[in-house]
Amino acid sequence: MAYLGEEIKKLGFGLMRLPMKGEAIDVEQTKAMVDRFMEEGFTYFDTAWAYAGSEDAIRQALVERYPRESFQLATKNAAWINCKTREEAIAQFETSLKQTGAGYFDFYLLHNLGEHRTKFFDDFDMWSFVKEKKEEGLIKHIGFSFHSTPEELEEILTNHPEMEFVQLQINYGDWENPAIQSRACYEVARAHNKPVIIMEPVKGGMLANPPESVQEIFKKAEPNASCASWAIRFAADLDGIITVLSGMSNMEQMEDNLSYMKDFTGLSKEEKQTLDEAREALNRIPLIPCTTCNYCAKVCPMDIGISGSFTALNYLTLYKDKDAAKHQEDWLVGGHGRKLASECIKCGKCEEVCPQHISIRDELVRVTESLA
Ligand code: SF4
Ligand code: SF4
Repeated sequence: MAYLGEEIKKLGFGLMRLPMKGEAIDVEQTKAMVDRFMEEGFTYFDTAWAYAGSEDAIRQALVERYPRESFQLATKNAAWINCKTREEAIAQFETSLKQTGAGYFDFYLLHNLGEHRTKFFDDFDMWSFVKEKKEEGLIKHIGFSFHSTPEELEEILTNHPEMEFVQLQINYGDWENPAIQSRACYEVARAHNKPVIIMEPVKGGMLANPPESVQEIFKKAEPNASCASWAIRFAADLDGIITVLSGMSNMEQMEDNLSYMKDFTGLSKEEKQTLDEAREALNRIPLIPCTTCNYCAKVCPMDIGISGSFTALNYLTLYKDKDAAKHQEDWLVGGHGRKLASECIKCGKCEEVCPQHISIRDELVRVTESLA
């Protein structure tokens, strides 16, 4: 079904975790992935001013190689990152236009609304800015991504009926998770008649490799399907969805996604039951719900490897293998030039920006104790 007059297939290419070559994005590999994606009829690409190198990479891999009208490009404005004035926030839009070379954006989002971040968009009146750009033809559709409570979402949508769509974190693991409230936020958006773009359907990759108990349920139901496929199909099956973003990092993930999404028509009753069972099994295992968005890394004065530390601790929780977990910590924290959890000075800046509402300081203490 088409929303906002756009015929878009239910898989979008999220450009936050593009393949890397050393410290830089591997543009050649990205080109190959873009080609496969387009070849199968998929057309939606999601980048952001805040994703380092991503806008530049997609200009080279997509914009300079395909007719402009053959794809939809979305990017985002993060007025809450280092902006002190309206001009600085607006400059992000100009930078995005330049970096992508796209000429206009099909979808332009105010990035990560909710909590204290919404205030930046209010103070700088970015609402009227995006409306003006839409009138000028530089944006086709305006909306926002959101990580907070359904109550806040209700308030924003009531105050800003001009917003055409909402981007929400939705996955089977977070559907009833009280920290994320995927279902409740989705219902608020739909009650306002807004179509939804889904982000984090695989929960930052965690649902691609869920605990053994969850994997067994999926393998029993469909021996050849990947666990990621269940996560993405769950999201794509919901009503009112423009597309489901998958942050693909290599060709293997791309091929897997394409294999089940190119002809996706919805889940059967049995498949829905399998997902219910998987959700129950998952809920029985307490993990740190970090999606490695790394917003915290942008504000941490100590350069603590927060998401890497959490990935390592989750690894320990899931697989009970301390050596392997420490190996993860070595690589994801020290190996990426970041400091260990034990060096946290407990300033709390990270917790102000964490969309998952993680008690980062407490969890870092747990990391230190568990991986000692
Ligand atoms: S509380 Fe610790 S991890 Fe968080 S921003 Fe401060 S120093 Fe960094
Ligand atoms: S701790 Fe929060 S802000 Fe930091 S990477 Fe994880 S989810 Fe993102």
